[in-house]
Amino acid sequence: MKENVNDYSKKLRELLVEEINEVIDPSTGLLKEEGSEFVDCPLCGSKKFCEFWVKDGFTYVRCQDCQFVYLNPRLNESATLELYNGAWTNFYNQRKFFQPNVLDKKINCISNKRGKLLEIGCTTGFFYKQQGMNLVSMYLVSN
Ligand SMILES: [Zn+2]
Repeated sequence: MKENVNDYSKKLRELLVEEINEVIDPSTGLLKEEGSEFVDCPLCGSKKFCEFWVKDGFTYVRCQDCQFVYLNPRLNESATLELYNGAWTNFYNQRKFFQPNVLDKKINCISNKRGKLLEIGCTTGFFYKQQGMNLVSMYLVSN
C-alpha cells in the first residue's frame, strides 16, 4: 500500500514529538538540564546572549557581539546522538532516502554542477558516488 504525504508527515511528526518529549521538562516546557548544556557563541566565542525565541522547548538566543542566532542551551553530545539514532530518524531515512525516485531527483538536481558541496546530515553518504563533486559530508554517529 502506498503511503501518502499526509500519513508520512503525521507519522514523522508523531515520532519526532515523542522523542523530543523525552528531552523536555514537562514542568517548564524547556530542555531538561540533564542532557543539555549551555555554550558560548559557536561563531565568535562570546558569552553574551539574549533570548530570541522559544520553539518546541528549544531556546534560541542571539549573540550580543555578532548577532548569530543559535540554540542555547542545546542538547549535549549523548542526548543528540540518542535523538539522531532514534525511531524518527530511521523512519525518515527509510521513507525519504531509500526510495530510488527521491534519490534520483536529488542526484539529478546537482549532477551537472561543478565545485564543492558540503552535505550536513549525510546519513549513509549517498552523494559520495557522484562524479565531479568535491564533497565533504558530516553526520553524527554513535560508536
Ligand atoms: Zn557571536
